[in-house]
Amino acid sequence: NIAQKFTDITKQLSGKGKITEKNIEDAVNEIKIALLEADVNLRVVRRFVNRTIEEAKGEKVLKAVDPGQQFTKIVYDKIVALLGDENQALNLNSPNKTTTILMLGLQGAGKTTASAKLAYKLKKEGRNPLLVAADLVRPAAIEQLKVLGSQIDVPVYFEEHKDAVKIVNNALDYGKKNQFNTIIIDTAGRLQLDQDMMNEIIAVKKAVNPDETMFVADAMTGQNAVEIAKSFDEQVGISSVMLTKFDSDTRGGAALSLKSSTGKPIKFIGIGEKIEDIEPFFPERVASRILGMGDVVSLVEKVQESVTQDEAEQMQKKMMSATFTLEDYLDQFKKLKKMGSMQSLVGMIPGMAGKINDEDIDEKGMKREEAIILSMTILERRNHRLIGPPRKKRIAKGSGTSVAEVSRLLKKFDKMRLMMKKVTKNKKYQAQLMQQF
Ligand code: GDP
Ligand code: MG
Repeated sequence: NIAQKFTDITKQLSGKGKITEKNIEDAVNEIKIALLEADVNLRVVRRFVNRTIEEAKGEKVLKAVDPGQQFTKIVYDKIVALLGDENQALNLNSPNKTTTILMLGLQGAGKTTASAKLAYKLKKEGRNPLLVAADLVRPAAIEQLKVLGSQIDVPVYFEEHKDAVKIVNNALDYGKKNQFNTIIIDTAGRLQLDQDMMNEIIAVKKAVNPDETMFVADAMTGQNAVEIAKSFDEQVGISSVMLTKFDSDTRGGAALSLKSSTGKPIKFIGIGEKIEDIEPFFPERVASRILGMGDVVSLVEKVQESVTQDEAEQMQKKMMSATFTLEDYLDQFKKLKKMGSMQSLVGMIPGMAGKINDEDIDEKGMKREEAIILSMTILERRNHRLIGPPRKKRIAKGSGTSVAEVSRLLKKFDKMRLMMKKVTKNKKYQAQLMQQF
C-alpha cells in the first residue's frame, strides 16, 4: 500500500535534522517497490524514481531545515505531475452549438454508466443532453441506457437494428432538430481488444467527428488499462480518459500510469455505481489520497453539495473543535450515507486513509453501529466515557450485539477523535478548511 509506505517513510525522515543521499535512495527505493506493487507501469516508475532522486539530492533537501518535509513535498509534487498536474475540463462548445461526446472502451469498463453520469452532471450544469444507445452488441444494452436515462430524465435515442453508423447519424440529426446541445454516445465494447470493435468505433467516430472522445477505463485493471488505452488511441484516437470504479481501486496503478503513458488527461473518475458518483479528476486531490494525506478540499465540497450550508458549517466546526460525540457520529453517518459511497469518503478524511479498513465501514457494520448508539442514553452518547462494563452489557443487549462489539465501536470512536484532534492542530489543514467558508 503506497499510503502506508509513504507514511512510514515520512515518519522515518521527519525530525531528522540531516538526511544523507543514502537515506534518500533508500526512501525512494521503498516508494518504488510500493508503486510496482500498486501495478504502476514500470517505465513510469523508473522515470518517477530518477526524477525524484535527482531533485531530492539537490541542495534544497540536504540542507533544508526539515529535510523530511522537503522530501515529502518532492514526492507529492512528482505524483501530482504523473497524474497530470491539473484538472482538464471537458471540451465543450458554447451551449448554442452542439457538443458531441463519444464514449469508448472495453465491455464492463463502465461506459454506459459513465455516459449517464456525464449526462446527469451536464444537465445539472444547465446543458440539454441527449444519450445515444449505439451499443448494439451487448444484450439489453439499449434497455440499460433507457433505464438510466429515465432516472435522470434525459432522453435516450435508439433504433432497433445493428448499424451503429446509421444510428449515430440519425441521432445527430434528431439532436440538432430538437435543441439538444450535448450528445453523448454510448458504444459497444468487447471483453478484450478486438478488430471488429475497433472497426466499428472507427466508423462511428468518423461519422460523429466528436468534440471529445473519452476512453472509459476500469481502474481496477491497473496497468492493463494503459495498454488498452494505447490501442484505442493508436487505432481510433482518444482525447481523454474517464477512470471508473475508482472507489474500488485501492492501489492507484491505472491513475498513476495513464497520463504519463498515453499523454491523455484523465478528466473524470467514477466513484460508485450510482449516477451521482462522478467527480472531476483533480491530480492534487488524488495524489493526496494515494499518499494517504487525506483530501479535505474534496470532502468539504462534497459535504457542501449534499447537506445544507448550515449543516456543513456545524459539522466542520465540530470536527475542528474535536468536541465530537457519538451523537454527532451517528448524525454524520446519516449525512455520509446521503453523500454516497463510504469508502470514497473515508479516504478523503485527513489521516483516515489506510487507518480505517473496509471492515470498519461496511454497510452492515454501519447498521450495527447505529443500533449500538441508538441503544445508548442521550447522556451516554454525549459522553461515551460514562460507558463502563455494566452499561456496555446493557447496550449490547438492547442493540442485539455483543459487549465486544460495543467496545470495538468505542475504541474506534476514540481513535477517530484522536485523529481529528491531530488534524485540527495542523495549521495548514485548518487554513484550507477555513477557506471554504
Ligand atoms: P459497459 O459495459 O462499459 O457499458 O459497463 P457498464 O456501464 O454496464 O458497467 C459495468 C459495471 O460496472 C456495472 O455493474 C456498473 O454498475 C459498474 N460500475 C460502473 N462504474 C462504476 C464505478 O465508478 N464504481 C463502481 N463501483 N462500479 C461501477
Ligand atoms: Mg454498456
